[in-house]
Amino acid sequence: MSNIFIISAPSGCGKTSLVRELCECYPFLSQTVSYTTRPIRSGEENGSDYIFISRDQFVAKKKKNEFIESQDVYDNFYGTTYESINTILISGNDVVMEIDYKGMLAIKSKIPSAKSIYIIPPSISELKKRLLERGLDSNEVIDKRVSVAEEELTYTKFADYIIVNDDFSLASESLKSLVLMLHIQNHHTILSI
Ligand code: 5GP
Repeated sequence: MSNIFIISAPSGCGKTSLVRELCECYPFLSQTVSYTTRPIRSGEENGSDYIFISRDQFVAKKKKNEFIESQDVYDNFYGTTYESINTILISGNDVVMEIDYKGMLAIKSKIPSAKSIYIIPPSISELKKRLLERGLDSNEVIDKRVSVAEEELTYTKFADYIIVNDDFSLASESLKSLVLMLHIQNHHTILSI
């Protein structure tokens, strides 16, 4: 039986890079491609990073019940279709979904056997320090991201597994080990005496 992994994190926790390394490491994993109404960013590819559609198209899909879950994240719509999950399951691969914490809760309520992994920063002050050092955002934006992250951290208790992203390589190795262990547990009988 295939696994369904939901990987979530408060904003600014390095989730995208960790998930990229994870999926590149194991050929038995495939990542779902979500639909979104947010504008495409430079370097992104339509159909591979996301499927970019208009708000009207998104609403039409939602009415047709195509989404297993959909959320409004920072004023843009994001949604995962039943089809994107089914295609991977039919191929025999494990499913990886990189979605926000609300999506994580929605998927867990519909597929209780899905395994949720929450990536968290070592502390809120460390997250703020990293955002400041990155120098990409204004102080106002950083304060907003930090307060959103503080709220998102309260959802840690709903995750099946938690990985602290203190050191990137260690967090990446932990994520890979965890996923490999869960994959093996599900595909082979583990004998105990
Ligand atoms: P970004 O626009 O930076 O790519 O993503 C913003 C947030 O939306 C991230 O937390 C990302 O994980 C989340 N996200 C991406 N796709 C989906 C989806 O299909 N459903 C939900 N609930 N969140 C998503």
